[in-house]
Amino acid sequence: MNQFPPLQTSKRILMGPGPSDAHPRVLQALATPLIGHLDPEFVGLMDEIKQMVQLTFQTQNPLTFVVSAPGTAGMETCLVNLLEPGDEALICIHGVFGGRMADIAERCGAKVTKVEAPWGESIDPQQVKAALENINPKLIAIVHAETSTGVLQPLEEISQMAKDAGALLVVDAVTSYCGTEVKVDEWGIDAIYTGTQKCLSAPPGLSPVSFSEKAVEAMDRRKTKVQSWFLDLTLVKNYWSGQKRAYHHTAPVSAMYGLREAYRVVLEEGLEARFARHHENHLYLKEQLEALGFEFLVKEAFRLPMLNTVKIPDGIDDATTRSRLLNEFNIEIGGGLGKFAGKVWRIGLMGESCTRTHVNQLIAALKQIM
Ligand SMILES: *Cc1c(COP(=O)(O)O)cnc(C)c1O
Repeated sequence: MNQFPPLQTSKRILMGPGPSDAHPRVLQALATPLIGHLDPEFVGLMDEIKQMVQLTFQTQNPLTFVVSAPGTAGMETCLVNLLEPGDEALICIHGVFGGRMADIAERCGAKVTKVEAPWGESIDPQQVKAALENINPKLIAIVHAETSTGVLQPLEEISQMAKDAGALLVVDAVTSYCGTEVKVDEWGIDAIYTGTQKCLSAPPGLSPVSFSEKAVEAMDRRKTKVQSWFLDLTLVKNYWSGQKRAYHHTAPVSAMYGLREAYRVVLEEGLEARFARHHENHLYLKEQLEALGFEFLVKEAFRLPMLNTVKIPDGIDDATTRSRLLNEFNIEIGGGLGKFAGKVWRIGLMGESCTRTHVNQLIAALKQIM
């Protein structure tokens, strides 16, 4: 007798802000027998994964690898390695995740200047320009796809401003990555992090990152040790690159199997085709939701295809409807975060969860409930 029954989960349809549905091939790869994390076969697998990260970030950066922890650890990796006490940082905030970056930067001892936009809007590059008249930051950090609001932040103008100001550009691409264009080299991004559980459709718990030569030089000029041992790149990078692979921590071997297979799925589809699929299914969802009377929160030009934020219509109870979707239809969608709690829904169309069938299932369920 065992008081704990065998693990069994419901067959959920994941249409929230992540994790998204995983491809069956990814789930199968997770069950591959373990090998040692310094086994030459595993080292080869790390090299392949590194190339896959470079391809999907559209970068040649040699310092490109996967942090063995979720997206937030990628965020923290970028900031703790680039900021020292007393450095100036300009952090753009247009939702929860920009706020999290500012909090981390402050904990690094940086002097943080915040440029804020109302939730549901993007940062106006002119605000950044105005802020740069008063400060000379070491870095500018910004969220590309703000999952708390559904806003896609244009980056090119702000990237140019960072370059002109001699500041590094740090970008959160957790939700945009593998669902819409993210061009690290062409857009002049110096440090970028993402997650695996959104449009890449791998299990959560890993964070691909990449650093430009300029970012590496800034790290080489540090006068103080990075305050985090685990995330200190001077230590981690010997685990991920170079001839001598030194033990740093034990890589999450099974999760890396799943990640590798998720990348194979992405590269087989092709990035452009994948972005087009996200865009088309977003338009289809929009048409269907608008026919039911839903309104989008974000102006059309700034909407994320993979994270659709709609206002909850009057007369519909947030918690009851979402729990009916989950319990009766096995569909998960996201509620509002922070100041949007109870006011909006966040409907994800990420990676494997971005299909016409997913949209049809959600719309049919909503019609029955409403
Ligand atoms: C999900 C998300 C994160 C955090 O990722 P975790 O894997 O939950 O730590 C950071 N930024 C954005 C924009 C996200 O959507």
